[in-house]
Amino acid sequence: MANQEPTDPSHALFDLFVTAESCRDVQQHFSALCEQLQVDPKDYRVFYSKLKERLNYWKAKDLWKEIDKRASHKDYQQRKACAENKCLVLGAGPCGLRAAVELALLGAQVLVVEKRASFSRNNVLHLWPYTIYDLRGLGAKKLYGRLCTGTLDHISIRQLQLILLKVALVLGVEVLTAVEFQGLEEPSGDKGWTAKLHPNPHPTLAFEFDVFISAGGGSFLPDGFKQKELRATLAIGITANFTNRHTAAEAQVAEISGVARIYNQKFFHDLLTQTGIDLENIVYYKDDTHYFVMTAKKESLLKKGVIKQDYSDAEQLLARENVDHDALWRYAYEAANFSTNRQLPELEFATNPAGRPDVAMFDFTCMHRAEHASLVRERRGKKLLMGLVGDSLVEPFWPLGTGIARGFFAAFDTAWMVRSWGLGIPCLQVLAERESIYQLLSQTDPGNTKNNYTSYSIRPSTRYRHVNLSAIQVHQVRLPPPLLNRI
Ligand code: FAD
Repeated sequence: MANQEPTDPSHALFDLFVTAESCRDVQQHFSALCEQLQVDPKDYRVFYSKLKERLNYWKAKDLWKEIDKRASHKDYQQRKACAENKCLVLGAGPCGLRAAVELALLGAQVLVVEKRASFSRNNVLHLWPYTIYDLRGLGAKKLYGRLCTGTLDHISIRQLQLILLKVALVLGVEVLTAVEFQGLEEPSGDKGWTAKLHPNPHPTLAFEFDVFISAGGGSFLPDGFKQKELRATLAIGITANFTNRHTAAEAQVAEISGVARIYNQKFFHDLLTQTGIDLENIVYYKDDTHYFVMTAKKESLLKKGVIKQDYSDAEQLLARENVDHDALWRYAYEAANFSTNRQLPELEFATNPAGRPDVAMFDFTCMHRAEHASLVRERRGKKLLMGLVGDSLVEPFWPLGTGIARGFFAAFDTAWMVRSWGLGIPCLQVLAERESIYQLLSQTDPGNTKNNYTSYSIRPSTRYRHVNLSAIQVHQVRLPPPLLNRI
């Protein structure tokens, strides 16, 4: 019964939407579904309830059940806490989309702009137990059945984006892809805060907003925010993806959830003597692809001809022209092959959007962290609350898998800030509270956050063990650089 093709066109469209494997297909099937049901996503206040009412399909009902449970949490105040707020979210990476979902649950109107036209990152993210529970609670299992089956605790970046995009759309979030954010436009006349977008999707009627969430990833920081550089010893990360044909032989090969040199000296010694490859650590996940992430020692990269010339400056060392890509591919291939006991048959690179082997080398020597998580700008009496989430707030060290765990925490903390803003709490207090919570973010790990993650919500005290919401006082956010920027 369950495998029968649905005869109702809206059911068939819902199935296509749920199973869509690309950003464009998700958007197209969603539009077709809305058209078929005659529901307008722009009608964001009632969109979700109308969609539910008109789509009487058991598979959809399974999804509504999960979303309704989440939406009924008291923190959202029946989706009224931010009913008067309009939010622009920059970036449809996992953290921008996760934040957008929370803002929609709070009742805000949400627009996400994403400069890329597709979701194409094969690389795999480690998920902490709470993130798996969180995603399941959003109905992710109904949208991607393979999510964390068995003991798996990871997901490819693109799959996570697809899941969150689907949830966001269902909740009435507008997501514009292939649209680049190019800066904020200050209020003028009757017009409030708007954004310079390219290409401009609203040539006649610009989207005005009072909340701007920047989730543009590690290399994007909006005006007004500053970063601190955290310099560590040289750390060179390599990621490599190989095609997963999902054969029985591939299924047999054990994952490596993280071996570090100090814990398995023999493995690294054998790797070095047999292949000349010298690593600090390596992780292997079997996901949509066979994904490897490793930290390599500079000397072995030089010896194997991956890095052409030695420089003390990490940027010069890893500059495009100083890397031999064929040698890098061979290095990653050998490391992957050795660490899986040469058990992965027909090891073949997956390709990146440019059609080349999906292998990349990254510099983790210098990590960035924003000095502040929030700001308020006021022009002509119109206030704009700004917040950072994800990698643009704190850059993660991938082999530790902190990206999504801390990224989602920051999305929740930011949603909590927007909730306070929506509820009319004075803006200096909103900022002081947000900065107090931000102080805790970089130290969070599964050991020092609350054990009972089934009770996690956007309320910080449900997640952080020792949270003092007034660790930073109102008078401190007035100090230079003042977080309230009023002209
Ligand atoms: P991102 O996922 O980087 O998303 C930011 C989004 O903002 C992007 O889609 C970008 O196109 C968009 N954007 C940026 N500027 C603009 C603009 N001006 N206008 C509109 N849109 C804009 N983590 C791991 O744990 N393991 C890995 O192997 C790994 N590989 C990665 C490979 C790459 C190339 C990148 C960029 C990141 C990788 N990460 C990896 C980090 C991981 O992807 C992030 O920690 C995680 O995705 C959460 O990030 P985010 O949502 O904050 O930012």
